[in-house]
Amino acid sequence: MLSRLLPADEAAVTHAAALLRAGKLVAFPTETVYGLGADACQGEAVAAIYAAKGRPSFNPLIVHVADEAALDSLVDRTEDARLLGAAFWPGPLTLVLPRRPSADVSLLVSAGMDTLAVRIPAHPVALDLLRRVGRPIAAPSANESGRLSPTQAAHVAESLGDKVDLILDGGSCAVGVESTIVSLVGADPVILRPGGITHAQLESVLKRPVLYTNLAQELGASLPSPGLLTSHYAPHIPVRLNASAPLPTEAWLGFGADQGIVGGAARRNLSPRGDLTEAAATLFALMRLLDRQDFSAIAIAPIPETGLGVAINDRLRRAASLNSPAVFISRPKG
Ligand code: AMP
Ligand code: MG
Repeated sequence: MLSRLLPADEAAVTHAAALLRAGKLVAFPTETVYGLGADACQGEAVAAIYAAKGRPSFNPLIVHVADEAALDSLVDRTEDARLLGAAFWPGPLTLVLPRRPSADVSLLVSAGMDTLAVRIPAHPVALDLLRRVGRPIAAPSANESGRLSPTQAAHVAESLGDKVDLILDGGSCAVGVESTIVSLVGADPVILRPGGITHAQLESVLKRPVLYTNLAQELGASLPSPGLLTSHYAPHIPVRLNASAPLPTEAWLGFGADQGIVGGAARRNLSPRGDLTEAAATLFALMRLLDRQDFSAIAIAPIPETGLGVAINDRLRRAASLNSPAVFISRPKG
């Protein structure tokens, strides 16, 4: 069965907004490619994006909003962010900014990191949809992981079939223009992905040097994990995988029915009913909660290596091999 595909008229966009608020997945056109959108505030809806794409890992997702006012509750809008936003939004520019502690966005969106990638797209259908939803929308490209990015609604239908609740058809997107991703969380602005806005355009607005990722990689040679350009979240204490029970000094992260493991602040469960979507939605928040120096480690129950379990296990294996705090590609401020 193919998913519903509707021309993006007013009725369809209104319907799409209601679906997104209800935690459903909607594919919609942007000026770059079609996005697979979900309410960024609903963890299980965000988990459904990863499940639909069949992504084997939790890459952080870009959060889309209709206007800059919508960013105030989500991120710290630095001076550079204001300058770049005024110059290039709406448009193919994504800014990685410090996430506000009070931001009501699932930690799964940013793969547990303290930053958020945000963008105001220029496509009229995307903007109309975002205004009607009135919520930040997480959206990667609307294709199966590892396949070509879709520039037509029919591509989305071919790639994702019935895994998406609605596809808004807004015609063809401008082909081959991805958003430029600029990180503004370090001392210097860094281009993480080249795209529609050029290095020269960025420097002419900021009136100071903008680094490229490869340069940052060289600068990062002295950091503990120079290859870690997207600076994944890693806990500060050790992680013990496939555990059957916690040691007395360990925190516990269970999955499914925990036989004989009693509750309490140090005893948590990703999904007592053994649901992988729920587990993905709670993973980063619970890891953070248990990441305290008064525990010797976080012991984690086995997670089935199927569906979203593949991405969960990928994340947990990285956490187990990296006990250092998140590594940022640029020097931290101050
Ligand atoms: P896509 O969804 O395919 O456009 O890819 C999104 C890109 O944004 C990925 O390459 C991510 O690594 C990057 N990204 C999203 N959020 C962040 C973040 N908080 N920090 C660094 N990179 C990010
Ligand atoms: Mg993609």
